[in-house]
Formats: sequence, C-alpha cells, structure tokens
Amino acid sequence: MRYLIIIAVFLIFGACQQQNKVELIDLHIHLKGDLTIEEAIKKSENEGLKYGIAANCGLGFPIQTDEQIAEYVKYMRQYPQFYVGMQAEGREWLHMFSPEAINLFDYVFTDAMTFTDAKGRRNRIWIEEETWIDDEQEFMDYLVATTVKIISTEPIDIYVNPTFLPAQMEGRYNEFWTTERMMKVIEAAKSKDIAIEINNRFEIPSEKFIKLAKAEGVLFTIGTNNVDKNFPRPLYAEKMIKACKLGNKNFWKPEMKVKN
Ligand SMILES: [Zn+2]
Repeated sequence: MRYLIIIAVFLIFGACQQQNKVELIDLHIHLKGDLTIEEAIKKSENEGLKYGIAANCGLGFPIQTDEQIAEYVKYMRQYPQFYVGMQAEGREWLHMFSPEAINLFDYVFTDAMTFTDAKGRRNRIWIEEETWIDDEQEFMDYLVATTVKIISTEPIDIYVNPTFLPAQMEGRYNEFWTTERMMKVIEAAKSKDIAIEINNRFEIPSEKFIKLAKAEGVLFTIGTNNVDKNFPRPLYAEKMIKACKLGNKNFWKPEMKVKN
C-alpha cells in the first residue's frame, strides 16, 4: 500500500511538471544569411522548437509594399508548421502598408531601436555611428518616452528587442534601466495588452524587468532575432523561465491564419 502511495505521488508530481513545462516558440526568426527555409525546417525539427518566421517590412527593407506582403505571406503559407510574422521597421511603416495587408500576418512586432530624436536626427541605436547621445540620462528618458509611445500607438502584438541599449551604454544596464523607467514601459504594455519578447541574442530584458512585468500580468514571447543559421536554442529564455518561474500562462501565442 505504501508503495502505491509513493508511486501515485510520483505520478501526480510528474504530471504537474509536465503541465508547467513551457512550450517554446521562437517568434523572432529571420530567413537571413544561410538560414534558408529548408534549414529552418530542419533546425526547428531537430531542436523540437516551433518557429515564427518574420519578414522585415519598412523603409529600406526587403518588403515595402502591400503586394510584397501578399507575395511573402503566400509563399510562407506553403510551410504551415511556421507562424508568419511581420517585423515592422522604423516608424514609417505606419504609413506604408494597409491594415488589410498587415492583417495577413499571424502577428506583428516592432522594437524601439529606430526613431527620430528631439533634434530631428534619425537614430538607429544598434549602429554606434547612427546613435546620437549628447547626454546619457536625457537620451534614456527620450528612449523610454519613445518606447511608451510606440507601445501605446502602434498596432502591434509584441514589443521586441526590449530595453535594448546602444553599445556606448549597454555595459551599464542597471544604471540606466531604473525601476521607474522599467515600470513606464511595463505599464504601457499592460494597458495595451502587448506582449514583451524575451530576447535570446541580446539577453534582454533583465530578470528584474521580467519579474516586474510578470507581477503586472504582462505576457511574454520568446525571440532570437538571428542573423544566420548559427544560433543556439533559446537559452536565455529557458534561464528566465526558471529564474522567474514562468509557465505557459505567462506567454502569448499568435493564432495561425492558415486557410484550409
Ligand atoms: Zn528582427
């Protein structure tokens, strides 16, 4: 009898563990470099991960018209194992595509890495030479305000590359991302029901940010933002899932708009 109870306890414990296991979906995969569609199929199968493959849409990017969106989505629908995502680039995208075209995608995301500052300079903050920092604290306040504005006004599902800092400042993340600044972004996401990406490549946002966002009920997604096929499993996301005790209920998932 005692053995039966022990076995039952183990079975129940096992079932709970299974239930809590987060379904890993990497929604920020690009067909870039040597990551072809065939390689993506192989890699996602080998690693047991679901992918969302995103197209870069915006000024100076591969997709700049509604027709190109329709073509791309049609092509991608041959591969129903993948979600099809739109990475909306810059701030110009709002005026470049119709809602009907945008709606062909399963989900839409953007980041706050491209913006025009108060002096009219276009910043692309992942490129050191295109980032204008006169005063670091002012830059930070502007970045936070811009992020809040993007989240509050743009029709997106996910805010990606969240809390990214330019190279000149990235080594001092905790100094710049104060709790107050984090909360501004988190509150904005909460009020618009926008998910926040846990980014594997840049290992952002921080554990502290994720815990604060989780406490507010904000949902997350997992994303790598690869440049070729040489990227590991979502290690940072796995680490944060553990550290912040995230379960499936803490993650947002798109709906696939595949027509049968
Ligand atoms: Zn990307």
